[in-house]
Amino acid sequence: MPKFVYDFTEGNKDLKDLLGGKGANLAEMTNLGLPVPPGFTITTEACRHYLKHGSLPEGLEEEVARHLSALEEAMGKRLGQSDDPLLVSVRSGAKFSMPGMMETVLNIGLNDESVHGLAAQAGDERFAWDSYRRLIQMFGKTVLDIEGELFEEALEDAKRAKGIDNDVDLDAGDFRALVDTYKGIVREHAGREFPTDPREQMDLAVKAVFDSWNADRAILYRRQERIPVDLGTAVNVCSMVFGNLGMDSGTGVAFTRDPASGQQGIYGDYLQNAQGEDVVAGIRNTVPLTELETIDKASYDQLLEIMEKLENHYRDMCDIEFTIERGKLWMLQTRVGKRTAAAAFRIACQLLDQGLITADEAVRRVTGDQLAQLMFPRFDASRADGATRLTKGMNASPGAAVGKAVFTSARAVELAERGEDVILVRRETNPDDLAGMVAARGVLTSRGGKTSHAAVVARGMGKTCVCGAEELDVDVKAGRFTAPGDVVVEEGEVISIDGSTGEVFLGEVPVQDSPVVRYFEGELGAADGDELVTAVDRIMGHADGQARLRVRANADNPEDAARARRFGARGIGLCRTEHMFLGDRRRLVEKLVLAETDDERRAALEALEPLQKQDFVGIFEAMDGLPVTIRLIDPPLHEFLPDLTELSVRVALAADDADPKDRKLLEAVHRLHEQNPMLGLRGVRLGLVIPGLFSMQVRAIAEAAAERRRAGGDPRPEIMIPLVGAVQELEAVREEAERVLADVAAETGVDVPALIGTMIELPRAALTAGQIAEAAEFFSFGTNDLTQTTWGFSRDDVEAAFFGRYLELGIFGVSPFETLDREGVGRLVRIAAEEGRRTRPDIKLGICGEHGGDPESVHFCHEVGLDYVSCSPFRVPVARLEAGRAVI
Ligand code: PEP
Ligand code: MG
Repeated sequence: MPKFVYDFTEGNKDLKDLLGGKGANLAEMTNLGLPVPPGFTITTEACRHYLKHGSLPEGLEEEVARHLSALEEAMGKRLGQSDDPLLVSVRSGAKFSMPGMMETVLNIGLNDESVHGLAAQAGDERFAWDSYRRLIQMFGKTVLDIEGELFEEALEDAKRAKGIDNDVDLDAGDFRALVDTYKGIVREHAGREFPTDPREQMDLAVKAVFDSWNADRAILYRRQERIPVDLGTAVNVCSMVFGNLGMDSGTGVAFTRDPASGQQGIYGDYLQNAQGEDVVAGIRNTVPLTELETIDKASYDQLLEIMEKLENHYRDMCDIEFTIERGKLWMLQTRVGKRTAAAAFRIACQLLDQGLITADEAVRRVTGDQLAQLMFPRFDASRADGATRLTKGMNASPGAAVGKAVFTSARAVELAERGEDVILVRRETNPDDLAGMVAARGVLTSRGGKTSHAAVVARGMGKTCVCGAEELDVDVKAGRFTAPGDVVVEEGEVISIDGSTGEVFLGEVPVQDSPVVRYFEGELGAADGDELVTAVDRIMGHADGQARLRVRANADNPEDAARARRFGARGIGLCRTEHMFLGDRRRLVEKLVLAETDDERRAALEALEPLQKQDFVGIFEAMDGLPVTIRLIDPPLHEFLPDLTELSVRVALAADDADPKDRKLLEAVHRLHEQNPMLGLRGVRLGLVIPGLFSMQVRAIAEAAAERRRAGGDPRPEIMIPLVGAVQELEAVREEAERVLADVAAETGVDVPALIGTMIELPRAALTAGQIAEAAEFFSFGTNDLTQTTWGFSRDDVEAAFFGRYLELGIFGVSPFETLDREGVGRLVRIAAEEGRRTRPDIKLGICGEHGGDPESVHFCHEVGLDYVSCSPFRVPVARLEAGRAVI
């Protein structure tokens, strides 16, 4: 039979799965010889059994009885003994800290008799009756499910009747009367008497703690923190010590370093004559921990000694809860403390310098998410007085942006050119909005999820974006949007958007710059005296040294490429060429689509080619000596044509006077219109259907590379074919591309080798990767489309439409567009990687979907043995750090 109960002397800090965090650490402290009130822990396994079967596992009750007897023996008194009662607390404690989410009952063991024993022993009637009424109150609420308000009201009534405001002015008689009132509440609302048998109190409290694992707020918290639903909680039964026995008693919390900044020092709060719950309830103000030195020097000195011991033992910053009972210090809890991102980096380096941890451990102590947090400008919430919160959308691309609301791309560009900060507000964005997005400080949309166009493009640019703010009604024509409460925001009014929380404000919230970005940009050095920057520099240096995965960037212009390189990218993994077909060049694309003869089409392509070539020259220059993967055009052509509805209306309104060019255009838009464009004429299919399109792009790449080579550069182009599902598609394009490369080499006299490879973004491609590798020198996993096609989830629609519900139902813990779905999409990646390598052992493997910058997904790519991940320039440092962390 498994062991369900561990005395504090039996466990240790590594048994968190079984004893929960609190229980494991109480045991660890006990074994370190620290003053921990004796007690025992009932395991999470017992909880899981109880939650599954609705009953306690066999043997648990006897095991508890045995441990209780041992505890009674050690304390020299029995639970609830009438003349000198042992009292215990029953506290929850799961593997992962879930602060305040589950239940605790204190003072178990008090009843109508033992309350007198406690009074006599403590020499304090008032304290004893106060403790008793607290028990009934907590027990009533937690175990018997009685509305807490009823007890609160009774307490308020008692104070009102006496004409006082403060609990401290109630005397023993008042609390005694309250005990009667509380018992009446229990009788009336629970339909039973308050149980006076101490063991029954304890057993019911244990079950209530188990049940609290499934309290609504606990479920919600776990979902947010991505804590697995099936862990269960342990229960700690601990002998009570009292911080409310007079002014020589008290309770407090302490941190071994400042959890906000990481600074070394004495941090914490103390409250005299109080129990922990009084601190939480904020009934009285605490004093800084340093004042304990004057209140009780002996306890203070002992506490500092213990804090040092704990930090050296855990080799990390700890937080601590303690109580002083009549001058005697007791440790009630410790754990490795939560900290801000900045503190995490600083503390890791401090501990490294103290010789407590190795450089590998220092890298493990920080996360990519923390680094990302440090890189975004943020709102200074302390100075947000002048702004009104309007709504909350999806936190699509972090950061903080302030500017005038504008509703069209053109207007955004116009105002930005005048030096104004603007926020582009749209229902949703499309490739046409790119110029406006570039010009704007941030982007706000009322529709679309985290992989919507707005979100992907904004993240790529490191631009703040809130998307899917569905409570907003955006009226682009009228140039205004309406927010809940009929707040109308007109063009030109200043709004602030927080891409880290999804919040939208009317008015200006001040923004702060990130020193960490200035460091990556090369504007701030490790030697400039900023402790955070120095810490980031050291940790990044070590992570880079350990990483096996390389990190490239998704970038499609020279500026982004240059920034990516400054941020540490080792090449470009995805250059989306369609982004070069926008703006003025749309006219040329229109000509291409409308061409009726080969000559017309050739002319349109010839006009586009030099423009493409110039783009590539700039990118090769920025990434000189490093690989640049250029993807040939992917989206359906209609995306470059005017909107069907708008054009139809224009033509219809003009009737007979309609511009013949518009009519022709409308015909083309109709011809190209697809019900399911994502599954339609795009990617390699376009290249095979529109003669000359891919050739033009390959020629532009080859000529650009030749030009760079002649200028003394070292261009390393890789040509990537999108949306391939069959090797035959790739073979056809490959042949054409090789011919063009050879032509250009002959014409220019410069031979620039270029790898030719494909994206793997369709399940069929993954499943036939062995064949496809015959024609591909590299694979790049396009996991945006691969997720879309594997799940059958439209990437532009589903997040806003129903992912909220799916997350609530626990169908997945995180959107598969955000973190790669290991079992499904990941399995296809594994298969393709293995089969690709079998055909072509030196095939290069990478990933360029949004997952390339997601920490969890980076670890997956490392495990599968990919050669690189590619992500937006701003995610490059995050991916570098995680690539290092994946190794150690
Ligand atoms: C992908 O599908 O993962 C990809 C990188 O291509 P895009 O997002 O441009 O479709
Ligand atoms: Mg794709």
